[in-house]
Amino acid sequence: MNVGILALQGAFAEHGAMLDRLETEHFEIRQRKDLERAFDALILPGGESTAISKLLRDLDLLEPLAEKIKNGLPVFGTCAGLILLAEKVEGGVPCFGIMDISAKRNAYGRQLGSFHAEAEFDDLGMIPMTFIRAPYIQSAGSKAKVLAEVDGHIVAARQDKMLVTAFHPELTDNLAIHEYFLNLVED
Ligand code: GLN
Repeated sequence: MNVGILALQGAFAEHGAMLDRLETEHFEIRQRKDLERAFDALILPGGESTAISKLLRDLDLLEPLAEKIKNGLPVFGTCAGLILLAEKVEGGVPCFGIMDISAKRNAYGRQLGSFHAEAEFDDLGMIPMTFIRAPYIQSAGSKAKVLAEVDGHIVAARQDKMLVTAFHPELTDNLAIHEYFLNLVED
């Protein structure tokens, strides 16, 4: 398996380090010609969704990636990556607009919005979760399945082969969420 990691801005290197630990091949997507490589899954990292969104457009990556995701390319979006995939964005503009969720940007406040929590994640048990100026999912439509909630707010969901987390599993040393994604890719 080979995973493409969008590497325009934000915490992309940390995802690569997680995949190294899981002995999974990966490469960085920085420009259009990187899409000539074959890949089986895509990671959209955390960072600043407005900046990533602008770069996706400027570099002509938005349309080809949207096409691949619509055609079933498995995708894992963390934090800003969640915002990029959401059909509706409160406090922002949809980017791929592909997943049946409504995301609220900077949902915990802009400055003091970083915190750590532990919560149940689907059938994995308790998972450590690091939030940095995170969004949460205000509502998930019927196509999406809620996977985790913290303080009554949805912080992870999946829809077909799309997985999103409001938190940053790549910033903890728990590999469970990346493993969960790789299982979803292989399913
Ligand atoms: N607040 C950022 C945004 O709106 C997301 C933060 C993150 O990815 N850690 O894009």
